[in-house]
Amino acid sequence: MTTQQQIIAAAETYSAKNYHPLPVVISRGEGVWLWDTDGKKYLDCLSAYSAVNQGHRHPRIIQALINQANRLTLTSRAFYNDQMGSFLQQLCGLADMEMALLMNTGVEAVETAVKAVRKWGYDSKGVERNRAEIIVFNENFHGRTLTAVSMSSEPAYTEGFGPLTPGFRLVEYGDIDAVAAAISKDTVAVFLEPIQGEAGIKIPPYGFLADLRRLCDRHGILMVLDEIQTGLGRTGKMFCYQHERDAKPDVLLLGKALGGGVYPVSAVLAAKSVLGVFQPGTHGSTFGGNPLAAAVGKAALAVIQEEHLVDRSAELGAYLLRQLQDLPQIDVAEIRGQGLFAGIELKSSAGPARPYCEELMRRGILCKETHQQVIRLAPPLIIERKEIDHLLLQLNDVLTARFARAGNA
Ligand SMILES: *Cc1c(COP(=O)(O)O)cnc(C)c1O
Repeated sequence: MTTQQQIIAAAETYSAKNYHPLPVVISRGEGVWLWDTDGKKYLDCLSAYSAVNQGHRHPRIIQALINQANRLTLTSRAFYNDQMGSFLQQLCGLADMEMALLMNTGVEAVETAVKAVRKWGYDSKGVERNRAEIIVFNENFHGRTLTAVSMSSEPAYTEGFGPLTPGFRLVEYGDIDAVAAAISKDTVAVFLEPIQGEAGIKIPPYGFLADLRRLCDRHGILMVLDEIQTGLGRTGKMFCYQHERDAKPDVLLLGKALGGGVYPVSAVLAAKSVLGVFQPGTHGSTFGGNPLAAAVGKAALAVIQEEHLVDRSAELGAYLLRQLQDLPQIDVAEIRGQGLFAGIELKSSAGPARPYCEELMRRGILCKETHQQVIRLAPPLIIERKEIDHLLLQLNDVLTARFARAGNA
């Protein structure tokens, strides 16, 4: 039998090392649980970066996948298919938007939105050709294509990959005055995550999104929210911007959980006045809007709504956050969270978060550090209170001064 060590060795030999996985080989998943090849069981507290909000292999989503796979999988957009239209209608209804454009991965939705707001700037706002500017924020994460990393302030994402895409202006996250100061006659959009996930669950000051909304209206600028990670219930609202009043964006990006953890599905949602800039031939994707994606997407949305996953996220997230505050705080610099999206930032004296995640793994909890010092917690939204208590118990044991000393030794 192949051991986990042998499987890991093969991956390390033949895969580019663009990730640093925890040393565990998963071979099965169901609901909030994962099993490794030795049959050991783990509580999934990452949910594939919020792509598995509905839980692993949700029966309804898997059934939709199988049924559609048995009928039709791909036509390209050269023809209509019988699944895409009704999916778009459901999605636009849910997000209260007029139109949507379907892509596959999250970063393609980002890329599509950059193209849309630039073209809108030239066609509708009258910005001089090739001069459009987009305001972005320090420590953002919008994915890994060249244009998405061109928006980034993180050297690890950009070093050695230049020349980068021009036209982005970085400002401090959460600082409305910095945004106002960065606006020029060429500004077409501000582009942001309503909570910065990769940056370590960074939550802007309350009111920032509504302030941005007003600022954008005053200057005729589009507000683009990347809710690829925060959307679809993760933060205790269907969309994170709904935590504030009057913060609805002009352009909303969804991905990850839109595919229910089984298939890549992403979308750009906006008004006709924005997505109307695309004419036949100006943008496309062979797999975008395919019938398998649409069938899976419909089931993924139905599960979130019918199983009240947004309310669960709000209630259990509030419980989780309260309980996290009661954990031993010796190594903890700050605890941040909204809904079932939480970050435990460790003091630099405690060392990096990685050994904590490795110790949690040994104790049957899978989560992943982000930005060195932060343990990110984002379990499937179907998690139950007793499973959260199990997580808290393990965290309690790991977050003791005793482990910190051992882990740093
Ligand atoms: C994951 C993520 C992306 C990129 O999505 P991919 O499917 O990995 O391309 C973009 N923005 C945010 C906020 C994300 O969390």
